Amino acid sequence: MSDCLFCKIVAGEIPCDKVFENELLIAFRDISPVSPTHILIIPKKHISSLNELSEEDRFLAGEMLLSAKKIAKSEKINLSGYRTVINTNDDGGQTVFHIHMHLIGGRKMDWPPG
Ligand code: 5GP
Ligand code: ZN
Repeated sequence: MSDCLFCKIVAGEIPCDKVFENELLIAFRDISPVSPTHILIIPKKHISSLNELSEEDRFLAGEMLLSAKKIAKSEKINLSGYRTVINTNDDGGQTVFHIHMHLIGGRKMDWPPG
């Protein structure tokens, strides 16, 4: 989508601190990190939110999880632990409407989330 911030990052029109890329997705550091490691994993294809994920995106959704695992290891937080989060719509706290998974770690997390 031409007016989508994350589509512009995928297209290289807006710079990002990229940590991983394959044919289906890219991962880059959050501009406003909430923890020492805070990475966003996004599909190259525009999907507005988890609500718009379809059956044909099954492989892509799996790729997002598998890439989170790989990046956690490369960031050396796999053993200490980390959290993966997809915020959806208003109550979920979603602010960018291109589906993304937050990978956050490097500190102890609270539960339940605020
Ligand atoms: P949400 O609130 O939708 O779950 O997460 C959106 C995330 O995108 C936020 O953590 C925010 O800091 C991050 N973000 C917003 N604009 C940019 C940007 O231009 N570049 C990067 N790297 N992250 C961004
Ligand atoms: Zn988009």
